[in-house]
Amino acid sequence: MTDASKIIDSVRKQGRSVLTEIEAKQVISTIGVGTTRTLLARSQKEAAALSDEIGFPVVLKIASPDITHKTDAGGVKVGLKNKAEVRRACAEIVVAAREKFPGAKIDGVTVQNVARPGIEIIIGTFKDPQFGPVIMFGLGGIFVEVLKDVAFRIVPILKRDASEMIKEIKGYALLNGYRGHEPANIPVLEDILLKVSDFVDKTPAIKEIDLNPIFAYKDSAVAVDARIVLEEEK
Ligand code: ADP
Ligand code: MG
Repeated sequence: MTDASKIIDSVRKQGRSVLTEIEAKQVISTIGVGTTRTLLARSQKEAAALSDEIGFPVVLKIASPDITHKTDAGGVKVGLKNKAEVRRACAEIVVAAREKFPGAKIDGVTVQNVARPGIEIIIGTFKDPQFGPVIMFGLGGIFVEVLKDVAFRIVPILKRDASEMIKEIKGYALLNGYRGHEPANIPVLEDILLKVSDFVDKTPAIKEIDLNPIFAYKDSAVAVDARIVLEEEK
């Protein structure tokens, strides 16, 4: 059994179909996609201790199986510089989440390193009732949400497909760097597309993957958020 299928198995045994951010990041790192170091804290004290272990500055996020859009719940704080800030952020995140989602089960908060800014990319997969798994590539933020500037292919894809998907988005030129911004490494992004495609092709239990955003750099890329949904068990 692969490491990814062990994680999927344990999620199923707990009667869940949505992986936590930590589990989803573990799965994508087993397939070779870079991500932030992400640990679960169950108290303010533990959040402070884990921040020390990870090294400041850190990011804190709400960890709840019932909260998908963490920012909307006041559940993401980036760039916390010391233990006092971490403790305060931890309390604020939990209070905000309880207020917005009164019934939500809260596991605690995740503590993660701050990834340096890069070009924001989105890679996702979902299942089309006709075609089966489909993979999506787009630029993050307004590009996907407002301009719907995305490319789709049916899984599995070949290297040539990955390369075409990236080139066909309207914002392609932005990946080459603009106004002194660092460019994105296209072969690294092609590689992530291929790895994700290959993984969903071989893992029918996966219903959806959402890597949103991935920060792309000149020599690498890091997924700072990950969500994976499993098929309902038949
Ligand atoms: P949401 O559930 O709202 O999608 P995210 O985990 O994507 O929450 O976090 C929201 C935003 O915070 C991201 O789009 C990104 O800009 C920033 N962010 C999240 N995690 C990190 C991180 N580890 N390092 C740097 N920035 C981050
Ligand atoms: Mg996100």
